[in-house]
Amino acid sequence: MQKPAYLTISVDDGYPLDLRAAELLNRHGLKATFYIPATNPEYEVMTKEQVRELSRRFEIGGHTYSHLSLTLKSDAEARADILDGKHWVEDVTGLPVRAFCYPQGKFTARIVEWVKEAGFIGARTCFFNRSEMPRDPYRCGVSTHTHNHSALIQVRHALLEGNFKGVVDFFRVHKAERDWEIHFQHAVSAVERRGGVAHLFFHTWEIDQQRDWDKLARVLEYVAGRKQLTRVTNGELFALCRARMTDAV
Ligand SMILES: [Zn+2]
Repeated sequence: MQKPAYLTISVDDGYPLDLRAAELLNRHGLKATFYIPATNPEYEVMTKEQVRELSRRFEIGGHTYSHLSLTLKSDAEARADILDGKHWVEDVTGLPVRAFCYPQGKFTARIVEWVKEAGFIGARTCFFNRSEMPRDPYRCGVSTHTHNHSALIQVRHALLEGNFKGVVDFFRVHKAERDWEIHFQHAVSAVERRGGVAHLFFHTWEIDQQRDWDKLARVLEYVAGRKQLTRVTNGELFALCRARMTDAV
């Protein structure tokens, strides 16, 4: 029997150009989850009205209040930042928030517990080169980050994060590909063949800096044509992952 094959997309940081990405996603009827902090010391964040507008069509996930690394904060500060970020999105959108993303991908086992405690049903990490159904909804990886990382950077980043499966799959699934467009196509092919999750992750500030808007439009058009893939938000993916865990018990 064909194993379920999913497509999910995540967009981090709430940069105002997320609205341009939303237009592209809308054009193809694609689902995505936008992880938005209330503030970001590095990049501008959309206004509350813009976030509210985006939430009518897309899932908005928690990305803490401050977008500072949780691992550099005291326990009390980290807990509050997770919870305040959730309340901020709920206040702005008037909707419940169930998906979380660790700022800079940084987390520890304790941080995972606080994310659970805050009421999130799952969380996205920066474990790259992953295209299997996540075993743990609070440690969900992504297949492709829209940046042309060298093989050295991919391997070093994955090893530093303890993402050993990502190291293996960078070679096995992604053929050590540097170009992010081809890198993602490898994930899609693998998922169509053996099931799993093709997960594309980007920041619109980065797409803009790299002048990759045409490339992003092309990749979204390509993936929208892969009818075998079931489109899910990150939150829907976490729910599926949890249902599988319950089934297994
Ligand atoms: Zn971020």
